[in-house]
Amino acid sequence: MAVRVRFAPSPTGALHIGGIRTALYNYLFARHHGGAFVLRIEDTDQSRHVPQAEEYIVEALRWLGLLPDEGPGFGGDCGPYRQSERKAIYHQHAQALVERGKAYYAFDTPEELEALRQREAHFSYNYQTRTRLRNSLSMKPEEVEALLRSGAPYVIRLQVMPDEEVHIQDLIRGEVVFQSSELDDKVLLKADGMPTYHLANIVDDHLMRITHVIRGEEWLSSTAHHVLLYRAFGWEPTMPQFAHLPLILRPEGQGKLSKRDGARFGIPVFPLSWKGASAEDCFLGFREAGFLPPAVLNFLALLGWHPGGEQEVFSMEEMVRLFSLEHISKGGARFDYDKARWFNQRYIMATDNATLAQYLRPLAEAKGYRADLPYLERVAALMKERVSLLPDFLEEGYYLFEPVRTYDDESIRKKWNSALQPVLEAIADRIPSVQPFDAPALEAAVKALLQEHQAKAGEVLPLLRLALVGTMKGPPVFDTAALLGPAETAERLRRGMAYFLQCQAVARDQ
Ligand code: GLU
Repeated sequence: MAVRVRFAPSPTGALHIGGIRTALYNYLFARHHGGAFVLRIEDTDQSRHVPQAEEYIVEALRWLGLLPDEGPGFGGDCGPYRQSERKAIYHQHAQALVERGKAYYAFDTPEELEALRQREAHFSYNYQTRTRLRNSLSMKPEEVEALLRSGAPYVIRLQVMPDEEVHIQDLIRGEVVFQSSELDDKVLLKADGMPTYHLANIVDDHLMRITHVIRGEEWLSSTAHHVLLYRAFGWEPTMPQFAHLPLILRPEGQGKLSKRDGARFGIPVFPLSWKGASAEDCFLGFREAGFLPPAVLNFLALLGWHPGGEQEVFSMEEMVRLFSLEHISKGGARFDYDKARWFNQRYIMATDNATLAQYLRPLAEAKGYRADLPYLERVAALMKERVSLLPDFLEEGYYLFEPVRTYDDESIRKKWNSALQPVLEAIADRIPSVQPFDAPALEAAVKALLQEHQAKAGEVLPLLRLALVGTMKGPPVFDTAALLGPAETAERLRRGMAYFLQCQAVARDQ
């Protein structure tokens, strides 16, 4: 049977990075088996529905290249793929369960149930309590008929039979057993006519011919009810296989990574930035922090999966080829942000300069910097080995776009010596006539002057660097000069020298 998997997010806000990992594993599993990756929007909980959340999900999937084969806006013959558009289907299925004697009408009002919860600690609507509550199992058929005819609000509940064992062969966790006596009679259809997650999820997985349910560990406990639902419908023979993914844990300490941890640790835990109504509902995204999509995919793939061996950098093709559920760990995976940055650095180094320039253009424009692609390509070439996030190109390499902001005085005091002033002046004079104005020609010209003045490269070049970029760090000095061009290079040398002298004067006065 052809593999069909689904990613089924609820559009209740920005999609946490754990959701993206779930999407990625489903995607990799589908591609590995030549199957289909379905996107289904589970938007039946109207009270939690957030406009723009669906758009956000689709944009995040697009940014990462995890395009669904079927889904809202993606085509497919099992639609509609938005649950809010499938209301009639759920209604019909809930009704069918009542007719099969597997579910029942319950008329208890929310107030009555609340009162019960107040009175009885651990109240549960189940095989023990249902006989004394207001439902079609405990009431006379005529009474039920009359209530239904009168339009009284009702819910439909699953009738869970006691003393059954529910066995789940989880593809990651192995056998998991639940006792039906401990399960409540879950609501399937709500009083507003909307299905609950449980009903909609099972009906859709069946109708969409889903073969494997790969989702977060938090859904494992619901799976007991899901299996009972498959049984109730008589669909057990084609029930999908389940695989529950390990939790993503906080960078430090214990517990599950939450959306608030992003702000707490100053790191992104969402794929894209999200602007909610309040400050607490605004989150930084991996995209906006300056990550490349393949780096994010690689990092997320290894949060819980590894094919064995030492390799850590995997292309999408390799991940598709190597992916298997057997290599997913049961234990939680720690969210290590430094590792994410490390991956990004590797991917930046491996990305061609033209592509990097495209990424840098909007960032340069936003800063009012020179933003033509040929220039940005040269910036990319000079800086790519020295940065881990895209904005670093412009922050650490700001001096490629604007004059030196601050000089490293300590290095200047160590390196400056007024005997070197004539040679630096000679270099500044010579710079404008170097032809072609590239690193080899500049180096040759400077070396010739050093010889003429009997000065040492080890003494002069650090000063050149300090004059050009303000610090001892940064890309090779002649390459930097070549990028800055003759006028700017000469100008910076002169300005640098003036500063060095000033620094020396201050030091003398102290
Ligand atoms: N709508 C659920 C969620 O938001 C789907 C869980 C599942 O995959 O069954 O995660």
